[in-house]
Amino acid sequence: MENIYIRPVGEVDEKMIKYLTDELPLIFNKMVKPLPSIPVPPQSYDDQRQQCLSSEILKAILESAPADENKIMGVTEVDLFIPIFTYIFGEAQLDGRAGLISLARLKPDANDESPDEELYKLRALKEAVHELGHTFGLKHCPEPACVMRFANNIIEVDSKDCSFCPSCHDFIVKSQ
Ligand SMILES: [Zn+2]
Ligand SMILES: [Zn+2]
Repeated sequence: MENIYIRPVGEVDEKMIKYLTDELPLIFNKMVKPLPSIPVPPQSYDDQRQQCLSSEILKAILESAPADENKIMGVTEVDLFIPIFTYIFGEAQLDGRAGLISLARLKPDANDESPDEELYKLRALKEAVHELGHTFGLKHCPEPACVMRFANNIIEVDSKDCSFCPSCHDFIVKSQ
C-alpha cells in the first residue's frame, strides 16, 4: 500500500503543510509525510504570463522523488497554468505517482474576499484530495458535492465538499 509524501515547491506556508499532513490521513487512511522543499524550477516560469507551467513543476517533483512507490503531492504558492487554461488549481498524473496544487488562487485575499484562514485551508485540502484522487485513478465526477468534480473557478471549489461521493469512495477503497 502506497503512502503519501507532501513536497513543498518554493516557499510555502509551514502551517498549510502541517494542516495537510494532519488532515489527509483522515481521508485516505494512509500515512502522510512532509519532505523538505525543492526550488521552483526556473524553466517553468513564463515571463509573459508571469505564471509557472504546471507540467514543468510536476516533472521536477518526479525527478526529486524518493525511490519508492509512495504518492507525492507537490504544494506551491506560485500561480500555475497549462497552455489551454488561464490558470489551474492543480494537476496530477491519472493513476500515476505525482500531483501538484497551487495555493495562489485559493487565498481569500486573492479573490477580493476578506482573509479567512479556515476557508483557505479547506480549499487547499479539497484541491489536494482532488489531485490525489487522480493519482489513485479517479476521473472527474458529475456528482455536485463530490471532491472529484472539476472546478474551473473558486466558486466551484467552494460549492463542493472535501470528501468523495459513495461511488468515488468505493473506487478509492478498491484501488488500495
Ligand atoms: Zn481534476
Ligand atoms: Zn464522485
